[in-house]
Amino acid sequence: MNEFDLIRKYFTRPAPNTLLGIGDDAALLQVGTGNVLAVSSDMLVSGTHFLPDTDPFLLGHKTLAVNLSDIAAMGATPRWATLAIALPEADEAWLEKFSAGFFALAQQHGVDLVGGDTTRGPLNLCVTIFGEVPAQQALRRSGAQPGDEVWVSGTLGDAALALAHLQGRIELSGEELATCAQVLHQPQPRVALGLALRGIASSAIDISDGLLADLGHILEASRAGAQIDLASLPVSLAMQPHAATPPGMQCILSGGDDYELCFTAPGARHAEITAIGSRLSLRLSCIGNIVAGNGCIVHDAAGNQLNPGSGGYEHFR
Ligand code: ADP
Ligand code: MG
Repeated sequence: MNEFDLIRKYFTRPAPNTLLGIGDDAALLQVGTGNVLAVSSDMLVSGTHFLPDTDPFLLGHKTLAVNLSDIAAMGATPRWATLAIALPEADEAWLEKFSAGFFALAQQHGVDLVGGDTTRGPLNLCVTIFGEVPAQQALRRSGAQPGDEVWVSGTLGDAALALAHLQGRIELSGEELATCAQVLHQPQPRVALGLALRGIASSAIDISDGLLADLGHILEASRAGAQIDLASLPVSLAMQPHAATPPGMQCILSGGDDYELCFTAPGARHAEITAIGSRLSLRLSCIGNIVAGNGCIVHDAAGNQLNPGSGGYEHFR
């Protein structure tokens, strides 16, 4: 099968929200009046971001999911994506599953695939995603103010806990592994939450590199500090037995790949945020406060300061 047959068969689908999609030299996209584009790229490299034998359906899902997560963190509506893909060979069974995983999630979020590039090479997947958002309502990293509350969605560290098990650093039960592996392989981007937080959150980021690192980006951009209450950090049932152990703590504070949102909002919006969580059936936890200064301080239940630096987990040994 040649390149064009491959694109037609596996990557060309109806694009109902697009002026001109796949097949010309460039796609044409119409943004709504008063809206701006939110644009982000994420590349997944075999051996670095996933193992070469990863289930292609799940890989298709995750390739788009990590990009949707960035759009969610901007409070934008996802609209279009492009896919640049390097393949070692035209393996049709692999392509069938990969594109099924990709388009299942795309359809769920109303995203049209409008272009891309296809080459031969070591397996490499790069999606660029385009969302739209009213210019003044985008959720930036830079808006956190002293007095704001810090929130996270879902639970923390599950993906990293699954990885720790797969790499033999921790031992999970079959049930625990099943829960955590689901998060690792099929993250659910928090698009509806990002939209609901427009006009409410003062800043937002998606947690791809761990809570401390990503909250650190908000603090840096906002020129502020944070005090975080360790006991308030949301953990799953699977994490609970491991939460107090050093590797468990490391996953919660610094584990990557969860794709939850971390955001800040004035304390006066607390009840509204709780209501959003109920409406979306999504756990939203207030984990601390923004303060003047810089860096993030984590307190345990006894009020002891756990990590004065930004490094996090190694202080828990
Ligand atoms: P050009 O040579 O002008 O770059 P290509 O031959 O690479 O165009 O691509 C033909 C069409 O197919 C273009 O519309 C391009 O955006 C689209 N396309 C190529 N690869 C992919 C892919 N992996 N997924 C989706 N669309 C693709
Ligand atoms: Mg090309």
